Amino acid sequence: MSVDDSSSATERKSAINQRHEQTANEVLPEHRGLYIGGEWVQSASGETFETRDPTTGDTLASVQAGVAADIDRAVDAAWAAYDDVYSDYSTAERQAMLSEMADRVEAKKEAFANLESLDNGKPITEARIDISLVVDHFRYFAGVARAHEGETVETDDSRTVQTYNEPYGVVGQIIPWNFPLLMAAWKLGPALAAGNAVVIKPAEETPLSLLKLMEEVDDVVPDGVVNVVTGFGEDAGAPLSSHPDIRKLAFTGSTVVGSEVMQSAAEHITDVTLELGGKSPLIVFPDADLEKAVQTTITAIFFNTGECCCAGSRLFVHEDIEEEFLDRLADAAEELELNDPLLESTDLGPKVTEEQVENTMSYIETARESDARFLTGGDQPDDAALADGCFVTPTLINEIDHNNEAVQEEIFGPVQEVFTWSEYDEMMELANDVDYGLAAGVLTENVTNAHRAARDLEAGNIWVNTYNDFPAGQPFGGYKKSGIGRETAQEAVDHYTQTKTVNFSL
Ligand code: ADP
Repeated sequence: MSVDDSSSATERKSAINQRHEQTANEVLPEHRGLYIGGEWVQSASGETFETRDPTTGDTLASVQAGVAADIDRAVDAAWAAYDDVYSDYSTAERQAMLSEMADRVEAKKEAFANLESLDNGKPITEARIDISLVVDHFRYFAGVARAHEGETVETDDSRTVQTYNEPYGVVGQIIPWNFPLLMAAWKLGPALAAGNAVVIKPAEETPLSLLKLMEEVDDVVPDGVVNVVTGFGEDAGAPLSSHPDIRKLAFTGSTVVGSEVMQSAAEHITDVTLELGGKSPLIVFPDADLEKAVQTTITAIFFNTGECCCAGSRLFVHEDIEEEFLDRLADAAEELELNDPLLESTDLGPKVTEEQVENTMSYIETARESDARFLTGGDQPDDAALADGCFVTPTLINEIDHNNEAVQEEIFGPVQEVFTWSEYDEMMELANDVDYGLAAGVLTENVTNAHRAARDLEAGNIWVNTYNDFPAGQPFGGYKKSGIGRETAQEAVDHYTQTKTVNFSL
C-alpha cells in the first residue's frame, strides 16, 4: 500500500474532506423526495433518513423514508401510467425512450460517477466503468425492444397458432448498494423494453444516483412509468414484495432477504427474478500465464473492494506454481492503494458502511481463531487520514478449512481464501462445495483444461482468463442459492413478459 507520505496525515485528511464537500456540492441530486407519478413528493411517514459518505463519515444527504402507504401510491401511479399511456407505446417509442435515457446519463457521466463514488465509496475509476455500463445496458435494451418478437407455431392445416409477449403491467424492483445505478439499469432496461411500468426501491445505503437519474430523465419517461420509493428494507422493500398489484418482482441482494422476497411473492403467485449471493471459485492451472493470472486474481477479488456478489473469493492454485504465484499475488495485493476513492490512483475505497466493516472483520476474526495463515491484510489500515472511513485492507487467507464459516459464507469484502490443489477431481469437488453458484473463473493456457473446468463448475457465469467482465448481452445469474433467472441479456426481457398463445381454427 502506498500513499503520498510527503504530506502529513492531518493535511491529507483535510484535503479528502474538502474534496468530498466540493464534489458533493457539484453532483448531489437537487431533489431528495420520492418520485411518484412524475412528481417529487414527501413520504407518508413524514420522516427522512441520512445517507453517509463512507470515506469521511459525513452526511451526504437526507432522503425520504418511504413506507407501505408510499408503495401503495407508487403502485397506483404505475398502473395509471401503464393503462393510460405506456401500454400504448409502440416498440419504436420504447426504444427511443431507452436510447434517450442512455444519452442523458452519458451526457452527465462524470457527475454520475462522482456521485456513485461519494455514496458507495467505490474508486472513481471503477465508478466510471459502472456508468459506461449503465449507458450500454440502456442502449442494448433499446435495441432488444424492437427485436423481441412472438412466434408462429407450426402444427397442421387445421389451425394457426401465434404467441405474443405481453408485459405484466406493473413490476417491482429492489436494488442493492454495491452497484447502485448499474443494478437499477440492469432491471429498468428489460422491464421498460418489455412495456412495463415500474416501482423501484434503491438500497437505503445508496439512494442518490437513482434520484439523479430520474431528475435527468424526468421529461423523457412518461409520468408514472418509473416510480422511485427510497426507504429501508422492512418498511419499503417488504410492502413492495408483498403488494397484491405487483405482477413481477426482481430483487438483487442477500440470499436471506431473497428468500423472504420469494415467500412474499408466493402469496400472490407473483413471478420473481432473484440475483443473490455468491462464493465463487477461481481456479489456477499450472500452465496459466502467471503474470496475467495474478492480475486477473486481483481483479476477481478486489474489484469494487470485494463488494461483488460474483467476487472470486475462493482461490484454488495448483501446487506446482503455488509458491511463486502466492508470492506474486501477495506482493500485488500489498501494492494496491487504499485511499480516497475520488483520487485517480486509488485501487480500493472504503466499504459502504461501518456495519459492513464489522461484518467483514468478524469473518476475518473467525478465520484467525481457526489458526489460518494470513498472507497479507486482515485488518484496517493504520493511516490516520483514513481513520473516519470504512476501510479494510486487501486480505489473503491461507491454510483454512474449507468448511470454515469464512469460506462457506459470503463476506462481501476484500477477502480471499486460498487453497492448493493437485488432483483435478478433488479440487473440483471442493470448488463446487458451497451453497452458491453465481460465478467461477478458470485461468489456463490450455483449451482442454478450460472447457473441462467450465463444464464441471456449478455456476451461472464462467470467466476464462478474465473476471468481472459484464458486457450487455451476456446473460448473468446464478445456479443453486445464487438465484433464479438471468439479467443483462435478451432473456431478461422474457422474464418481464408473459406469453399469450392464440390458436385460430382454420
Ligand atoms: P445487504 O445485506 O447486502 O445490505 P440486503 O439483501 O439486506 O443486502 O438488501 C438488498 C436490498 O433489499 C436493499 O434495497 C434492502 O433495502 C432490501 N431489503 C432488505 N430487507 C428487505 C425485506 N425484508 N423485504 C424486501 N426488501 C428488503
